[in-house]
Amino acid sequence: MNCIQCKNKLRSKRIIFDYSEKCGIAGVTIHSARKYMCKACDAFFIDLGSVDEINNEICKALICVEIITRQQLRFLRAEVYVENYFEFAKRLSVHPQYLRDLEEFRKPISKDFSDEIKLVIGLRLIAKPISIVMG
Ligand SMILES: [Zn+2]
Repeated sequence: MNCIQCKNKLRSKRIIFDYSEKCGIAGVTIHSARKYMCKACDAFFIDLGSVDEINNEICKALICVEIITRQQLRFLRAEVYVENYFEFAKRLSVHPQYLRDLEEFRKPISKDFSDEIKLVIGLRLIAKPISIVMG
């Protein structure tokens, strides 16, 4: 791969990228990220991989948490499903105001509701189309 600025060959190395700020969930790091650097002009860019795949991996991790946090709930609604309160509440069969109260920390997330959310995530992961390449 070559530098987009000066066309020189890029060097790359594997890095651990802190994804916490991007996804809004504390402690999420990507261990398969790569940093590409140009020795000639100091340009660099970081390749995190596919956002869909990152989101899927986070979803898989969320199935294993004790209780979904409000940050994780917001991530699922806004980043994975890309839905507003009304749409996501409908998906989870709850009132939009209830969802808003959970995300804004006016109400704690119960174990039961957390399990409901995990079920929805699990179904999404199973339903995801499988990509097959033959050749
Ligand atoms: Zn360059």
